[in-house]
Amino acid sequence: MTSASETVSSVTYDVPAYHVDMVCAAVDKANRRLARSDNPDRFTMCVGAAFAVRDRTPGFPTMVREYVPVTLNTPIISVGPWMFAATRRYDPVAQVYVTFTHTSLTGYTPPEDGICQHCGVRRARTVVHIVRNTDTGEYRQVGSSCLEMFLGVQPMTWPLLFAHKIGEDIDDAELRFGGAGVGTDIAEVREVIALAWVLSDRGTDYVTREVADFRRRVATADVVKTALFRAHTVRDGSERRGLREAMQAAGRLAGAPDNVVDEILASISTLPEGTYYDNVSQLTGRDYVGAGSVGLVASLVTVYARALRRRAAEAADPAVAGYLGEPKELLTGIEATVLGVRPIDSDFGSGTSWLIKFRADSGHTLTWFASRRQEVATGDRVHITRARVKSHNRYDGIDETAIKLVKLTTLSSAQQTA
Ligand SMILES: [Zn+2]
Repeated sequence: MTSASETVSSVTYDVPAYHVDMVCAAVDKANRRLARSDNPDRFTMCVGAAFAVRDRTPGFPTMVREYVPVTLNTPIISVGPWMFAATRRYDPVAQVYVTFTHTSLTGYTPPEDGICQHCGVRRARTVVHIVRNTDTGEYRQVGSSCLEMFLGVQPMTWPLLFAHKIGEDIDDAELRFGGAGVGTDIAEVREVIALAWVLSDRGTDYVTREVADFRRRVATADVVKTALFRAHTVRDGSERRGLREAMQAAGRLAGAPDNVVDEILASISTLPEGTYYDNVSQLTGRDYVGAGSVGLVASLVTVYARALRRRAAEAADPAVAGYLGEPKELLTGIEATVLGVRPIDSDFGSGTSWLIKFRADSGHTLTWFASRRQEVATGDRVHITRARVKSHNRYDGIDETAIKLVKLTTLSSAQQTA
């Protein structure tokens, strides 16, 4: 057996800046635990310089997220070359394992369910861990209690670090707390999707956990869960009514013919292969999932919204140069396609406004900052009855006519809604 100090190895994670404190606390906790078990190994942590990552959606303002590289030595490599690779949590309702990992599990095939390949015991397990031999690439599935013996420490620190790196909306809270405790709640897959759709304003305002932390908003997945399991405990009367109405709208939506739920499910095919794809395709292959998987299923709304945006961009005729009307001029009777709808948080605390972009049938691009959410979605055909030209702008090399005081009607909706 090799000690960690001999197999010096480190791993660097890019952690969202607002998470660094949480990581420090987790590392401290892991170290206290090591000290208590008389293990001489310690996690040491090195925090690098923050850097910004730009989230670019063509035609929309760039969102900048700050990350900090955090380098950890890994006393978990206390058994030769074995390294912690993933945690798998069993969904007792869907009867599938959901995989949480920070890495792609290349060449991994799940072994027999519930087997611990350290002690050889097979039994029902809520959580199993995957370790990987860095020399040979071999994977082993290890039970929770054996992992500590196998690697020297429970890698409870790791979920904190990789939770935000696993694709769409991995629910780190679900990974950490979503085990046995809430396993009795059952949700219908189609209902979860319909509800997430309704509660996120048809996908335009889906709040991921990351954005929720960042913007101090409630994650859509949590609102969905509250609506499904705890609506009766909501004290605020209007909130409770809102959730009940959303449930009813979702019920109507899921029951309607040719409803958007099927399209959202079909959008799974646009995903690249990987753990997220495996997770959501397994879960949505079932009629019901456990409460712990609700966030993953709900997150499909973002996949669909992205596919729609892409489709709209591809379908739209190329923008023509030039503008519609002169500033202050009144425009009337313009037919257009909605290119995108995006909530824009004001820096001045005056709340959210909505940036809506249109491609007029003439090929001109129109932009509108609406102070309220409008009943339009990406891909909709609209008739702009009247609008006042605000200014002429150029964004991303495209001429954009900014409009205000817009009156419009929707001619046809790209999506069936309740
Ligand atoms: Zn075991």
